Amino acid sequence: MDDLARTDPEVAEAIRNETRRQGAQLELIASENFVSEAVLEALGTVFTNKYAEGYPGRRYYGGCEYADVVETLAIERLKQLFGCDHANVQPHSGAQANTAVYMTVCKPGDTILGMNLSHGGHLTHGHPLNFSGRLYNVVAYGVRKEDERIDYGAILDLARQHRPKVIVVGASAYPRTIDFVAVRRAADESGAVIMADIAHIAGLIAAGIHPSPIPHAEFVTSTTHKTLRGPRGGLVMCQEKWARELDKLVFPGIQGGPLVHVIAAKAVSFKEALAPEFKAYQRQIVANAATLAATLKGEGWRLVSGGTDNHLMLIDVFARGITGKVAEKALERAGITVNKNTIPYDTNSPMVASGIRVGTPALTTRGMKEKEMEEVGRLISRALAAVENESSLADIKRDVGKLCQQFPLYAARLQAYDRALSVVRGSTA
Ligand SMILES: *Cc1c(COP(=O)(O)O)cnc(C)c1O
Repeated sequence: MDDLARTDPEVAEAIRNETRRQGAQLELIASENFVSEAVLEALGTVFTNKYAEGYPGRRYYGGCEYADVVETLAIERLKQLFGCDHANVQPHSGAQANTAVYMTVCKPGDTILGMNLSHGGHLTHGHPLNFSGRLYNVVAYGVRKEDERIDYGAILDLARQHRPKVIVVGASAYPRTIDFVAVRRAADESGAVIMADIAHIAGLIAAGIHPSPIPHAEFVTSTTHKTLRGPRGGLVMCQEKWARELDKLVFPGIQGGPLVHVIAAKAVSFKEALAPEFKAYQRQIVANAATLAATLKGEGWRLVSGGTDNHLMLIDVFARGITGKVAEKALERAGITVNKNTIPYDTNSPMVASGIRVGTPALTTRGMKEKEMEEVGRLISRALAAVENESSLADIKRDVGKLCQQFPLYAARLQAYDRALSVVRGSTA
């Protein structure tokens, strides 16, 4: 970053500090990950300069031959990865991907059936503050109180009763395997199409360790930056009969020019996901989550639904008298990054929340395995038992630092940043 350090040391320094932070803390936010150097390289390229409205071979601008190359590679690799009929890699985010699907299928005022945010769904699945809740008539399903698992019987009943245009299945905070076949039954009974939003579990599905919605859903949407470990962005896959409409809704329907540098980076990450090592990585994510869950339970913490099948878990910290808000802040002071999260049937507001959400994709990318997960579980438990004890939290932070040092992250990059800044600022700060 020699040029950046010279022209804009303030931004350069923030980038350096963020790089250092990512490596110096235990990153347990379930929706985050660390991309490869190859993905970062593709992102920081001159493709950011290019307008390429339209699709490969059918653009509204000249000079798109290389944009066509990277977008075609991304599409073909994505189709191979999931075995879908049709893929659109232009959505700027997961929210944009979902918007495109709703607009392909629904008119304003139509009914969508989606999972309650406080039971693990996403804002874009019909939350009243989101466009999805403002534009459409939303009916919500959730998890059963007894076992905190999705109530597929209720989905069937609600679908029969309300005849939604779309049934949305997929979640941001649901630790169990999703039964896409059961949702198909509800859709067939009511004439709905399915939008499976696999933003969180895309990597697991690509690796074949979570059932795929592709045979059962008209539309599958995802982010590219969570378990899939690509650049920040979105995608839509759909059955052939919806392909033309969907493409028209992404562009010109809801977006202008695609982010070609991001599409190039998506292509790189899809190639990585097709490699055999990616399957081993996803298996390790799930094994790590199982070990972390077992450790936390052993330390006396209640997990929503009693455990996890996938990459994440919800700890019901309020069962031991701590709010999610307090837990998140205390863990942060101990160098452990998580997010507060409501739990099903929560009695606290979303800004306070009774739980925290914990996921293993990022730490697994750093190379941590079961042994480290036992240590991480004990560190979390120690911090939660000491939310008001600053000296204990400082001790834990030292232990966190030692663990992090054993698993370097972006080390060469960080050194180069330090060097560039020291030339400009005359110190390595
Ligand atoms: C993360 C997520 C999204 C939204 O992704 P953004 O890129 O933040 O817009 C959509 N759906 C689900 C289920 C998610 O977890």
